[in-house]
Amino acid sequence: MADKESFRDHISTVDKEGKRIWVFPKRPKGKLHNYRTLVSIFLLTILVVTPFIRIHGHPMLLLDVLERKFVIFGQPFWPQDFYLFVIATITIVVFVVLFTVVFGRVWCGWACPQTIFMEMIFRKIEFLIEGDARAQRALKLAPMSWNKFWKKSLKHSIFFIISFILGNVFLSYFIGTDRLFKIISEPVSQHLTGFFLMLLFTAVFYWVYAYFREQICTMICPYGRLQGVLLDKRSIVVAYDYLRGEPRGKIKRGDSREKGDCIDCKQCVEVCPTGIDIRNGTQLECVNCTACIDACNSVMDKIKKPRGLIRYDSEDGIREGSRLKLNGRMIGYSSVLLVLLIIFTFLFARRSDLDATVLRTPGVLYQELPDGWISNLYNIKVVNKTFDELPIRLKLVSPGGKLELVGNELVAPPGNLCETSFFVKLPRSAVMFRNTPITIAVISEGNELSRVRTSFLGPMNQKGKK
Ligand code: SF4
Ligand code: SF4
Repeated sequence: MADKESFRDHISTVDKEGKRIWVFPKRPKGKLHNYRTLVSIFLLTILVVTPFIRIHGHPMLLLDVLERKFVIFGQPFWPQDFYLFVIATITIVVFVVLFTVVFGRVWCGWACPQTIFMEMIFRKIEFLIEGDARAQRALKLAPMSWNKFWKKSLKHSIFFIISFILGNVFLSYFIGTDRLFKIISEPVSQHLTGFFLMLLFTAVFYWVYAYFREQICTMICPYGRLQGVLLDKRSIVVAYDYLRGEPRGKIKRGDSREKGDCIDCKQCVEVCPTGIDIRNGTQLECVNCTACIDACNSVMDKIKKPRGLIRYDSEDGIREGSRLKLNGRMIGYSSVLLVLLIIFTFLFARRSDLDATVLRTPGVLYQELPDGWISNLYNIKVVNKTFDELPIRLKLVSPGGKLELVGNELVAPPGNLCETSFFVKLPRSAVMFRNTPITIAVISEGNELSRVRTSFLGPMNQKGKK
């Protein structure tokens, strides 16, 4: 038993001396790999195209952390929208947890940029230049020769160019494509910080995909590290059906011992990009890339056994011998995910272009005017969340009275705030209580952008003592 479980004492890519074991996975082929390729092309296209998309002249997505400027779907978000950021973060965390509990590491295998870049771009280039796993291993062990030199040089040059492109794509999400093109086209001395970031992003991508590779998933990625606590026996994972597969053994003529469907061909191990044997059970290193499912299915086809010895299933599903089907937990958790998304979409859509705060000027009571009217002095702060300058007009909606600005017209600069003071004057007949509720509309270019409710302080009246 101790031997069987010994794989859990170390990770598959580090030997007993703590040295890196380089993984040479076989080229994956099969139906799931084809689907993953299509999904990857779709996601890569979105990744590259998004920074160039403009909505009403503004980027579709910009996350300018340094200048605290965020644009999502062409809508500007300022530090005043921090509450949305908090709600989005909570939604994402809950989403990730619930999604993983039900669907395991589907994200890692199908949508994670690390897996897509590694398996769908860099690994494919490596297969193209150096050949399949066996040829790659032989080339690594071979002494330096012209053949080795040109293959390694070509591979690393292409890796560097792709890292440069990916680095720039990522950078454009943070500084925008306009600034990126300026860094590329203008003298370096004018954009030292941008140029440094460009080099840094390129170097990080190159290092990760040329050298560090799957170690990101097994040693660094926090999501990968969390799998141990997020997955349970009902989570869907890439799993080996040990009931059907064991006792494993090669097919030998004349061997009458009863055997399971696993012929111990190790094809599932040879295609694994993280170097594990999925027949040992669910492991931290498994990124659910499905390469072993494809490999085993093709073996099952050859030996005329049903497909699915390795498949997407839960531990309980394998133990009970039942096929994966929609259950109450999947429906329940998926419904919660849907509700979270609806709440966030609702808050996102409800977000106004402008925030107005009105407060009575501290330390100032009401004034009784000679014409019998009563006035209160207020301060207003208006936060403009749009890209445009907004001329602001204030209007007293209720009760009937007058609103007079102190000073010039109010103009809110883009992405900034402006403040001023104003008087509200009400006839004595409208002041029924000590605190009379009033409503003020904030209007710009004929559109009412916000309504603010506050109170109007007046003398005590025989009708009420509030
Ligand atoms: S590919 Fe399938 S048959 Fe071959 S060793 Fe893996 S599980 Fe067994
Ligand atoms: S065990 Fe299978 S699914 Fe998991 S990483 Fe290896 S090949 Fe991919």
